[in-house]
Amino acid sequence: MKQSPKFDKVLLPQKGTCIEVEDDQLQVPDDPIISFIEGDGVGPDIWRASRRVFDAAVEICYSGKRRIEWMEIYAGEKAKKKYGEWLPRDTYAVVRHLHVAIKGPLTTPIGGGFRSLNVTLRQELDLYACVRPVRYFEGVPSPIKRPQDLDIVIFRENTEDVYAGIEWKKGSQEAKKIIDFVSRELGFEISKDSGIGIKSMSVFATQRLVRRAIQYAIDHKCPSVTLMHKGNIMKFTEGAFKEWGYAIAKKEFNDSTIAESELSSQPGGSAPKGKVLIKDRIADSMFQQILLRPKEYSVVAAPNLNGDYISDAAVAHVGGLGLAPGANIGDTIAFFEATHGTAPKYAGQDKINPGSMILSGVMMFEHLGWQEVADGIVRGLAQAIKARTVTYDLARQMEGAKEVRCSEFAEAIVRHMKEA
Ligand code: NAP
Repeated sequence: MKQSPKFDKVLLPQKGTCIEVEDDQLQVPDDPIISFIEGDGVGPDIWRASRRVFDAAVEICYSGKRRIEWMEIYAGEKAKKKYGEWLPRDTYAVVRHLHVAIKGPLTTPIGGGFRSLNVTLRQELDLYACVRPVRYFEGVPSPIKRPQDLDIVIFRENTEDVYAGIEWKKGSQEAKKIIDFVSRELGFEISKDSGIGIKSMSVFATQRLVRRAIQYAIDHKCPSVTLMHKGNIMKFTEGAFKEWGYAIAKKEFNDSTIAESELSSQPGGSAPKGKVLIKDRIADSMFQQILLRPKEYSVVAAPNLNGDYISDAAVAHVGGLGLAPGANIGDTIAFFEATHGTAPKYAGQDKINPGSMILSGVMMFEHLGWQEVADGIVRGLAQAIKARTVTYDLARQMEGAKEVRCSEFAEAIVRHMKEA
């Protein structure tokens, strides 16, 4: 067992056992210590409601034989008060030690050249895959006719692309240097009044992301993995993402995958049973495809920026941000998070929909291997929505709905879990 490290201003709880990683496998005890960041704005409201659901679900499933020992860690405004900084070293150290964490939304500090706390966390902890499942719950209002046909899991690369934050302001020394260099050495003219951003995409980062997406598809018996890219225009970054994606499928998953280009030689032109189809689509067409032919998509692997856009667009089909879970995953650390922001105008009102955080918890329990807890929560949530007992965001679009508070929605989920 690892030695317990010393943290500056937090202590490991007296009770509970640390999760270990052995041979790349998570070793989950019956009383794991899991760290959480409450978050800013509506964070405390949704965390309180979510924790109520998580603890009740574990108790319902295991009657005291298993339980979560929660450990609070700090980021955002609470960290600023406790540590005098937005993202203290303690937070990274605890997450590295415990391997699993869950968080609410964080305010991005304005001014002073701050990077987003979320982007910083992902980069510092090398959480290279942002995983966002998008599925429909019966009864949720949707702008499309058959939202139930969309059931996808998006794997978004988290560490590079134009999104990595390597950029310089118009007129800065750095921007001038790059503009001069590109003109002098490479023969391309860039307008002198330009801001500059660097878009870089590597074989390593692409392939570890696509590897993860394919492995997920195999483990969950998903029919396909789609590589989403804009390679017709950005050939050596996005186009390379596609090529490197196909290459890793061929090299490491040849027995369990088949590329779309190989289908013509197959009987009926379709993928053999049990094989995951690897295909690619241009990013702009992908937005049409998930609207017009959602059933043809299952797992989607995308570079950073495409992945960000398609995630929010897809979530809009099935009820919006209130029901959008996510996880940022590295080789040994998984950080689960509500994907919406701090929604400051609703802070402290016990009003907002906690569904995004609750469903992120569902992903967390699946990651721990506590599948019955995950299933129980999904059933409870689905039943609460079906009974039209929902928070304001869904109630305003649902006929005959009973609008409840954030905490009451959690209680409704618990009630339905108990009844199931
Ligand atoms: P936001 O906080 O996501 O809120 C925008 C709107 O989305 C809300 O006013 C609300 O719409 C709806 N919404 C968000 N969460 C909801 C929920 N749980 N249930 C129901 N509706 C929900 O976006 P923002 O106002 O652009 O950002 C505010 C702050 O959050 C910024 O500081 C930003 O940097 C930060 N942020 C953090 C994260 C993160 O930590 N992961 C992500 C994004 C943004 P209605 O008003 O129509 O009800």
